[in-house]
Amino acid sequence: MKDLMFYYKKSMRKNFALGAFNFSSLEVLKAIASAAEKTSSPAIIAVSESALEYMGENFVMANAKLVKESCKAPLFLHLDHGKSFEICKKAVDLGFDSVMIDASALPFEENVALTKKVCDYAHEKGVFVEGELGQIAGIEDNTFAKNHIFTDPQKAKEFVKMTKVDSLAVAIGTSHGAYKYKGESRLRFDILSEIEKKLPRFPLVLHGASSVSEKLVKIINENGGKIDGAKGVSEELAKMAVQMHNIAKINIDTDLRIAFTAGVRSSLKERPENFDQRTYCLNGQKMVEEVVVHKIKNLLNSEKMA
Ligand SMILES: [Zn+2]
Repeated sequence: MKDLMFYYKKSMRKNFALGAFNFSSLEVLKAIASAAEKTSSPAIIAVSESALEYMGENFVMANAKLVKESCKAPLFLHLDHGKSFEICKKAVDLGFDSVMIDASALPFEENVALTKKVCDYAHEKGVFVEGELGQIAGIEDNTFAKNHIFTDPQKAKEFVKMTKVDSLAVAIGTSHGAYKYKGESRLRFDILSEIEKKLPRFPLVLHGASSVSEKLVKIINENGGKIDGAKGVSEELAKMAVQMHNIAKINIDTDLRIAFTAGVRSSLKERPENFDQRTYCLNGQKMVEEVVVHKIKNLLNSEKMA
């Protein structure tokens, strides 16, 4: 099978982005694999540290292996927001294809040192490494930052050179979670352009770019949920980042959680007598699959890129 670097390079040439879809259950994993297969798109299946803990590493490795082997589209297992050398080493040793070391909360020199240490270890075993510079605001699992610290383009260049990292998550105004903006969403394309001048043809990553579909939030709220004031990044803006800039990977977690919740809530409301979890979880799975297909076709442009 072609490796992840092949798809990163191809994404830069063909102006698409790889979707990194987070999962913390078998249903969501199956939904991502099925959507990738239906659209002939490569996809990254991502787990955070807390999702790895929630499912257990044996469950994750066994199911990721099975799904990767049976899926007709290429899937890559990725650790999202690894905060320490130990967790990244563990993921490399377990057989992950890719790890993210997120030392963005540390001072620049310490971020460089830790990211380099992970790269030295992971590259030896052929594993891809993503770093992060700047700070993406918002909350997601155990990743939390109150304010944006936009990525400094000159520092980004130095960071990549010193660490030998394979891709870089940048902070340009996206944020984690379902409550991203009070008003209109804004992205700092000026900063993105500056980073690209310093790092031509280098794969950049957008975190916190879920669009938080109004339609799905409405389904949740009409079926007993209460999600007020949720707002995501406009899909048009994120799409511009893919088509006009070097964004080679977009992380999508919140949108899948919202889709799954909408599926489960509407199924339970429709059939209140039902207590077979396979029925309502399957409805959640179907809605997640629809969202992943939509992202591949309309945002990532990665359809038929397998
Ligand atoms: Zn993230």
